[in-house]
Parts: sequence; structure tokens; C-alpha cells
Amino acid sequence: MQQHAEYGDQYIDGAWRPSLDDAGSIEVLNPATEQVLATVPAGGPADVDAAVAAARRAARGWATTARADRLALLTRLRDKIAAAQEEITATVVAELGAPVGFAAAVHAGAPLTVATSYLTLLAEHPFEERIGNSVVLAEPAGVVAAITPWNYPLHQIVAKVVPALAAGCPVVLKPAEDTPLVARLFARLVHEAGFPAGTFNLVTGTGAMAGAALAAHPGVDVVSFTGSTAVGRQVAEAAGRGLKRVALELGGKSANVVLPGADLTRAVNVNIANVFANSGQTCSAWTRLLVHQDQYEEAVTTAAKAAAKYAPGDPTDPQTRIGPLVNAKQLARVRGYVEGALAAGARLVVGGAEPVPGLPTGFYVHPTVLADVTGDMAIAREEVFGPVLVVLPYRDEDHAAELANDTEYGLAGGVWAADTDTAAAFARRLDTGQVDLNGGRFNPLAPFGGYKSSGLGRELGRHGLEEFLQYKSLQY
Ligand code: NAD
Repeated sequence: MQQHAEYGDQYIDGAWRPSLDDAGSIEVLNPATEQVLATVPAGGPADVDAAVAAARRAARGWATTARADRLALLTRLRDKIAAAQEEITATVVAELGAPVGFAAAVHAGAPLTVATSYLTLLAEHPFEERIGNSVVLAEPAGVVAAITPWNYPLHQIVAKVVPALAAGCPVVLKPAEDTPLVARLFARLVHEAGFPAGTFNLVTGTGAMAGAALAAHPGVDVVSFTGSTAVGRQVAEAAGRGLKRVALELGGKSANVVLPGADLTRAVNVNIANVFANSGQTCSAWTRLLVHQDQYEEAVTTAAKAAAKYAPGDPTDPQTRIGPLVNAKQLARVRGYVEGALAAGARLVVGGAEPVPGLPTGFYVHPTVLADVTGDMAIAREEVFGPVLVVLPYRDEDHAAELANDTEYGLAGGVWAADTDTAAAFARRLDTGQVDLNGGRFNPLAPFGGYKSSGLGRELGRHGLEEFLQYKSLQY
């Protein structure tokens, strides 16, 4: 048996302290080897109480810390994130199973980009505005509970904690059970950067115990949650009872619409890369490819060819483009959806639900493309959270818009057309928070968040900062 680290502490009030709860520990598995990497404490109400109390004690001091001083600390934190890129990459490869190249570029790179973006935003944000005879002050919204998932574990932490701290709010973070190690690494970087005690606190634990205690805690003013829609509803209920402000980044079932006249080959290739990235464990993934019925078979063949380039493999190998899923539960879930779709009459283009040959250990699944899927099948409606693409035909533009919007979700999407004006005109018809036109790049300053059941509120950029501000009007 390989040695693994056993951690018994939480980061509370500026120091690592033994967990106060007696709820045992959480095993962190490497999804490629299925070996235990570490154990972390399963914190609960006692740790949450201590962390929230520390944050409350820190709240006024941090709220009144001059912008220049907050900026200096956040700059130090950004520099620490920059210096720790390799360690972040290795940690996310180990606990999430993300391929090392993708982990370096995205799991380590995106948090650095986002942290950097908030330095400029904090330096330039107008925290005071004159409106008629009023001066409107943007003040910190109070103690923030940040509850995060495992799929982009550090990005989701940074996208909440950095703007909250920039706004002047102290934070208690409850990261996902599967990926607490990169959260502990982040806590170490915050500590090294020298933030005042209590401004940032980390409590590891299960969602049912630590997460629920935090979301309902009377000492919390804002709950910022990223995760599944089902848990998001529970968190919103708990927050609602306490009249806390709540921001929810939830699931998705995003459509990529290829209009006639678009570069079909490019649109399909980019779609495959989009939906297989991170083993399909991306809330904003384009899981539904919509093409005109006259181009349907061409699109399916192109998708099959593109998908063949994604052979699952060891995430530590730089050649690997797709690693395992995060855990056995996700593996069973993804296989179940593929089996269900085939039983309901979908056509298997590539992939399937069988075990991946040559990879007996690890939570590997075949990257899968399905055709002849109808809008009523679960695979067309529900979030699979795996590398599975469904290809759907449409008759005309109205039908394409109707299909694209025929989902409870509305997080992201793509539109491809002969020119970007045509794509933009179509994008206005979509009930979704983000749309990439002809492969438009991700913009870390643009608001990210959902319409409909994909969430409430926005992250990233100025809109993400404003989630943590409240307004006071002074009349002159
Ligand atoms: P999850 O909802 O199970 O867990 C998310 C977090 O909530 C974890 O930290 C978990 O411990 C905690 N939690 C669980 N039960 C809780 C409760 N009762 N009270 C408080 N906290 C609780 O989701 P997951 O499986 O970790 O992540 C996958 C889901 O997250 C997918 O549905 C995905 O689409 C969604 N997601 C959305 C975005 C986005 O920005 N919209 C980003 C990433 C992931």
C-alpha cells in the first residue's frame, strides 16, 4: 500500500487547527489509479461555527481596509498562484484525473487569469457614484459562504473567493469532497500572502453536513454556490429562510447550433473538443449539436472522425487528451445514460457504455457520440456530465431555436453561421447566459451564469464583483 497523507485540520482564523467535529474523514481518491491520495476531515457544524465566527470578527476590519491594501494582498495572492502553477497542475491531475496538458492550461491557468483580472477590476471599480442628489456607496455585502464543486476545482474557488475578498467580504469556503486538496493548497497560498486572520477560512466536509450547515448559518450574509441544480434548490431554500443573498451557478444542457452556410467541419470539430474536454465534466459543455436535416449525416460522420482522436488514457501522460471521470458514481451515471439512450432507440456512432479495453483500473468511459436522438429522451434533456454528444436534426431556423430552448437549462451555447452578424441575430433568440459565435473565445471578463434552472446571478468580471456588494444611498 502506498503511503497517503492524513490531514486532520481546517484553515480557520488564520491558522491550521484540528477539526472540531467528530465526523471522521473523507478519502480522496486518484480517479486513474483508484488509490487513496489523502484523507481530509469531514467537518460539520462545529467547524462551520468556528469559521463563520472568525469571518464575522474579521468582517468590519476587512470591509474598512483601504482599497490599496486589499489590492496589495490580492496581488501577492495572484503571484503565489502564478508561482504554484506546477503544484496546482499536479494536484488537479491527481485528485480529478484531468490530463496534465489540460490541467496546466485550464485548471491552473484559468484561476491565474481570473485572479489577475480582479486586480484591474478592483483598482478601477467605482465604489462611489453620484446619482442626482445622492452619493451611492457600494459596500461589502458581508460574510460569504462559498460552496464549490469538483469539476473545475480551483477555478470555481478563485471565481468566488477573489472577487469576494476584493469587494471587502470575508469568506468561508466549503470545497467538493472529491477535490479538497487543491482547496487546501489554495488556503496555504492565501496564508502565505498574509491576509488578516478570519478573512479566508476553509472547512472541508460533506455537502450534507458541512455544506448544509454553512448555507443555513445565521452568521452568513451571502451564499455563493456552484454545483448541481438539485442541490442548488436546497441551498437557495436554506438561504431564503435566512434572507441571505444567494448566487447559484448550476447545471446545463447547452446547444451548439450550426446554421446552413457555416463551416460545418470546423463547427463539429470544435464541438467535439468542447464536449470531451475535462472528460465532459463541464457545466457549460455543448452537449447537443443541432444541424440542418440536409447536413445531418455529414455532421454525424464528421463527429465520428473527430471523436476517434480521443482515446482515454493516463492523465499524467502529456499525450492524453481525455482522462477518467472523477469517481465511480459518475462512471455509473454516464454509462447509465448511454445505455438508456441506446435502449430508447438512439444510434451509437462512436463509444458506448462498455468498459474501456486496456484500462481495467480507473473510472474511464468511452467518449461517445449518439445520433437519432429524440427530444423526449433523457439523454437530450438531462445533464449527463460525461463525454457524450448527441446530434439532433432541425428543419429550419425556427425549429432550431425551438429545440435549442427546449430545456430547463440555459447556461451556454454556440452558434455557427456564414458570418457573425447572422450568428449574433440567431443568438438573441436563445434563452441562455453565454453564446460563442463562430467559435468565439472564452472571455474571463464577461458575465458567466445561467438563465432558467442554470442559476441566479453572475460570476467573473465586474458582474462577479457586484455579487458581493450592497448599496447605500446618501442624500445631499
Ligand atoms: P453537487 O451539487 O453535488 O455539489 C456541489 C457542492 O455542494 C459540493 O461542495 C457539495 O459538497 C455541496 N453540497 C452537496 N449537498 C449539499 C447541501 N445539501 N447543502 C449544501 N451544500 C451541499 O455537485 P457536484 O457533483 O459537485 O458538481 C457537478 C454539478 O455542478 C453539475 O451539475 C454541474 O453542471 C454543476 N456545475 C455548474 C457550474 C456552473 O458554473 N454553472 C460549474 C461547475 C459545475
